[in-house]
Amino acid sequence: MDFSLTDEQQQFRDLVHRFVASEVKPTAAEVDEEARFNWEAVGKMGPLGLLGLEVPEAYGGAEVDALSAAIAIEELGWGCGSTALAISAHNGLALGPVVRYGSDAQKEQWLPLLASGEGRLACLALTEPGAGSDLQGGVRTMAVKEGDSWIIDGNKMWMTNASISDVMIVLCRTDPAGGSGSLSQIIVPSDAEGISIGPAEKKMGLNGSPTHAVNFDEVRVPAENLLGREGKGLQQTLETLDHGRIGIGALAVGLAQAAYEEAVQYAQDREAFGQPIAQYQAIQWMIADAATEIQAARLMVYYAAWQKQNGRRFTKEAAMAKLFATEVSERVCRNAIQIHGGYGYSREFPVERIYRDTRLMTIGEGTSEIQRLVIARHILEL
Ligand SMILES: Cc1cc2nc3c(=O)[nH]c(=O)nc-3n(C[C@H](O)[C@H](O)[C@H](O)COP(=O)(O)OP(=O)(O)OC[C@H]3O[C@@H](n4cnc5c(N)ncnc54)[C@H](O)[C@@H]3O)c2cc1C
Repeated sequence: MDFSLTDEQQQFRDLVHRFVASEVKPTAAEVDEEARFNWEAVGKMGPLGLLGLEVPEAYGGAEVDALSAAIAIEELGWGCGSTALAISAHNGLALGPVVRYGSDAQKEQWLPLLASGEGRLACLALTEPGAGSDLQGGVRTMAVKEGDSWIIDGNKMWMTNASISDVMIVLCRTDPAGGSGSLSQIIVPSDAEGISIGPAEKKMGLNGSPTHAVNFDEVRVPAENLLGREGKGLQQTLETLDHGRIGIGALAVGLAQAAYEEAVQYAQDREAFGQPIAQYQAIQWMIADAATEIQAARLMVYYAAWQKQNGRRFTKEAAMAKLFATEVSERVCRNAIQIHGGYGYSREFPVERIYRDTRLMTIGEGTSEIQRLVIARHILEL
């Protein structure tokens, strides 16, 4: 068993790390405080391959392996949770299904534009006011075939990137009878008539990642915008979430790593009772636990990515990695604040923001409870 990265993977990690250290991390506090999207940094990501991580080179993507893609998201998470979430959703949730299920014409239309950075980003619209974990039963957005068009009506919630996207992948009910074969994914250009995007949600964290409700009022798109097969929308969505969960796990590892590094530094600098607080065993244990848990989480994320790139089944592994890494990240960030004492509760220190950012990770792309459900179903063959 070889745990080392290949030269290519290592070079890619170094490249992304240097970019994030100079272009993303320094503005993370500012984009959070001002709730603005970091277009300055994202505008430079196309040539680095970060906007088309797993998109084939033939369509202008970087076509890196799944492990390198996870590492890139981990590095982005280390720099800025908001920017990392936007890029993770763009790659994993939106471009991923186009790569896997898109026709040649759909790939040619969207991938070169979006992977190069010449366009804006892309997003995935699953969640609705009454449907999150239960998409099969809850989705009410309808798409009705009329001649050679789909007419879409409904409301989506919590769409990451909605206001900064050129295109949306929308999960719609195409068979009112319901059931697992009643949903389909449809590609909808963001400027289609009848789309209205609500104001950015006011969130606890990730304020530099815009999230919106979107209303679809008789939105007409050509019939050929169906992505994959009619009635396969739920299956395609669940597969997409398998891929996305590796990204969220990696993002959580990056956030945890950033908080841990801040805590180690602070423990060495801050003095109490005449010596650095790093001399106290209570602090040492929090640091030792953080290092151990981050290493375990990272290995789980990399293992899920390795399973994926070797063509093995990875649904359970991705769910385990997401569950473990996101919960580890929350503990690590919590303790990083503890190590900072009162200063950890202040916006002047990064751990406060990182803690708020990581709170989403146990919720988005399937809550921790849903990950446990997925894992148990695999073990028990339910
Ligand atoms: C910042 C942010 C960004 C997001 N980005 C996107 C996006 O880009 N696209 C998109 O489509 N969605 C997005 N979401 C939505 C997100 O995926 C959902 O919030 C998430 O899937 C949970 O759904 P819900 O909020 O409806 O919670 P619910 O499904 O209502 O769940 C509520 C609670 O019940 C629990 N629960 C539900 N069912 C079960 C069960 N069977 N067993 C045990 N417990 C259960 C859940 O774990 C949770 O604790 C985003 C959300 C946020 C906050």
